[in-house]
Amino acid sequence: MSSEALSGAKSLDISERGAERPANSEVLSEAKNLDIGERGAERPANSEVLSEAKNLDIGERGAERPANSEDDNRFLAINQTISYIGPNYLKIPAGDSRPGKHSSGYTGASSISVCMDAARYYGQEDIRVEDVEPDAVGPEEVRIDVEACGICGSDLHEYTAGPIFVPGDAPHPVSGAQAPLTMGHEFSGTISEVGSEVTDLSEGDAVAVNPIIYCGECPRCEAGEYHRCESLGFTGLASNGGFAENVVVDAEQAVPLGDMPVEHGALVEPLAVALHAARVADVSPGDSVAVFGSGPIGLCQIQALRAAGAGPIIVSEPRDRRRERAEACGADVLIDPTEEDALEAIRAETGEGVDIAFDVAGVEATYNQAINSTRPGGRVAEVSIFEEGVETQPNDLVIPERSIVGSIAYQGGPRSAEEFGMVIDMLEDGRFDPDPLITDRIELDDITDEGFERLIDPDSDQVKILVKP
Ligand SMILES: [Zn+2]
Ligand SMILES: [Zn+2]
Repeated sequence: MSSEALSGAKSLDISERGAERPANSEVLSEAKNLDIGERGAERPANSEVLSEAKNLDIGERGAERPANSEDDNRFLAINQTISYIGPNYLKIPAGDSRPGKHSSGYTGASSISVCMDAARYYGQEDIRVEDVEPDAVGPEEVRIDVEACGICGSDLHEYTAGPIFVPGDAPHPVSGAQAPLTMGHEFSGTISEVGSEVTDLSEGDAVAVNPIIYCGECPRCEAGEYHRCESLGFTGLASNGGFAENVVVDAEQAVPLGDMPVEHGALVEPLAVALHAARVADVSPGDSVAVFGSGPIGLCQIQALRAAGAGPIIVSEPRDRRRERAEACGADVLIDPTEEDALEAIRAETGEGVDIAFDVAGVEATYNQAINSTRPGGRVAEVSIFEEGVETQPNDLVIPERSIVGSIAYQGGPRSAEEFGMVIDMLEDGRFDPDPLITDRIELDDITDEGFERLIDPDSDQVKILVKP
């Protein structure tokens, strides 16, 4: 049933009943407030039951209204409120939530509302900011009031070409969640509720969240390589994430931030991606490196390589503003591949090519350039998620004996604090600099227009936009 059909029917219904409403409608509204307040106190666990009960109830009360009234305006107001609730209620997936603070005209709603705003992914180019009921905190979980949540390149891939990591057809094997769900996996905040069995975290602790979801049973999990789990998922892609006022995660995912600004904690995840890639690629001080692409992860990669003592750091990036940021992050040589041949420029700088190249752009051209920019015996780290396959010449690896390695994330699960902890230390002592990474801060309501749409706009200068729910 379309929501228009329903609200139409409901309005009609109430209008008819309106003919019999009582003289004093003020009494009616007060009675309604009181009534809803009381119901709020004893509201059932299942919000669907509550919503239905509420709608029904208003109808029933309407039916008792006596005939005469001089107060048509007031009646109109009630009627409009109810038609407003109708479609709003219908937009929300069944069983997930109930009308909340957006039903601002609805008297009494705020006194029973425990809803919050969340940006939920429904499918390609379909993210909706809605009222949802917060998840409950289990014994080994914590609730985090989100301070900031970055929009990631992976989020953009889900938006333009997904679902990729978001379970679209079947629930995720570990989290049990599937679309629609709340996105956002790069976030920090303050703990506001602690599960009964959590002993090492307290209310008020500032934390970054390690979003790795793992099964705990597969061979890689048993080897302690949780980020290589066969059921690997991420909070905010395979379960509800940080584009919300608050979020519930396993306590082991919450990594204390110490005294650094809580907002900077939202950058720990992308910096950990880069730190992990540098470790996987086995970067040593003095290694010459090339980075293809200086978007958000590319800039983090440059900072991680600078911190590792690599140099020269050569960056190929077509957008002017991103090259400027690359320089601010520690790039020594900047190449505009639309103006010059990137491979020639790299050979001119290094002679036989770099020791290690990082592809952080994830398209066919950069995949092949990264391979061919390395010297014989060199290495390539692939740090991108591809939207489609690429054509490549494997002999470019074979004949010069180059190697290529993939890098998806960072240690997670019981090892959540290992690489996240290194990044937090490096943010604290200045080896990582958050300032060149953050290009804007926006409100949750603006996440599509001011966030996703600006980030996919090829003419935009945006790199990392932090959502502040
Ligand atoms: Zn990310
Ligand atoms: Zn596993």
